[in-house]
Amino acid sequence: MINIVIFGAPGAGKGTQAKLLAEKYDFLHISTGELLRQEVALSTPTGLRAKAIMDRGDLVGDDIVVSLLSRALVNRSTLPDPDSAVDPWDAQRKGIPHRPEGCIIDGFPRTVQQAQTLEFLFSKLQRRIDCVIAIDVPRDELVHRIHERAAVSNRSDDTEDVIRHRIEEYDLKTQPVLDYYRVSGLLVSVDGSGEIAETNGRICQVIDARLKR
Ligand code: AMP
Repeated sequence: MINIVIFGAPGAGKGTQAKLLAEKYDFLHISTGELLRQEVALSTPTGLRAKAIMDRGDLVGDDIVVSLLSRALVNRSTLPDPDSAVDPWDAQRKGIPHRPEGCIIDGFPRTVQQAQTLEFLFSKLQRRIDCVIAIDVPRDELVHRIHERAAVSNRSDDTEDVIRHRIEEYDLKTQPVLDYYRVSGLLVSVDGSGEIAETNGRICQVIDARLKR
């Protein structure tokens, strides 16, 4: 079982890449942004608390995010073994229980404190993070993508002003996480400036090399 964190600024394409990787390798994909959006959509007390914060582009408190993440990690990584008659990709799409070959975390950690929390959560599951893949996109390109995304997105936090604020939050709070993982030797940076498929190819090379070890 390989555990990967996918990392990048808003607009870098981490969600898109994480979905593609989860399909290709049959990895469990856990996105804290998606977990939060599900709570918002269901109007749970957590969702109601989180919505206003997300709509401003601020980071949601660790009490909320960590509890959603740990619940998802525990529930979804201890599923029974696959029925051999079931195609695991299909199973994941249809929600049929099966044990994935790996785990890809997207949107977490966003602070150094969250990085430490993630290590703690994984150690409780007797696992460790194998690699952190940072999708590197030049600032000009991020701004260009944000313009495009704001024009077509249904997300209430995808207006231009809010995305700009999310980038400020990234610079201030999330960027230091890169140094944290660089020092620990887990960080691999991948050029994410090109097309989705090009970036995906580069990330797959990193993962394939890890899987061969
Ligand atoms: P994302 O889908 O990863 O872009 O996340 C959308 C929004 O959800 C972010 O702008 C934050 O408001 C919130 N969020 C997602 N992940 C986290 C996290 N790890 N810590 C705090 N807030 C988060």
